[in-house]
Amino acid sequence: MIFKVSKANCRFNELSVGVGQTATSTSYRCDHCSVINTLTHSAFDKALFKDSSVFNQDLLELINAVRKFERGHWEEFLDFKCRGCNSPVRVIYEPNEFRMGCHYYQLKLVIEAASAKRTS
Ligand SMILES: [Zn+2]
Repeated sequence: MIFKVSKANCRFNELSVGVGQTATSTSYRCDHCSVINTLTHSAFDKALFKDSSVFNQDLLELINAVRKFERGHWEEFLDFKCRGCNSPVRVIYEPNEFRMGCHYYQLKLVIEAASAKRTS
């Protein structure tokens, strides 16, 4: 599987989610099957500061080889599988503290499987 990096605004309808923001969720449109996957504020809350992933080690190595997230630069990640086609997707986002213990999240990048469709 080959992964590519895209700007979050290519795939998500909201780039700023959470406390103090107008959006409490954001929707990802899968490039492979066109299914909409909704990520809620609480999904980001759960992923915050965690290293665990729904992906296996092989996938994680492929993803990290394309774009390793940098916690030292305030980056966090959220991994999920498309509910339509099971394609792995990683969102790299930046957490911001709105008030003590309450965060909002700014989506930066998406790492997703490059299209398997042949253009020729
Ligand atoms: Zn899909």
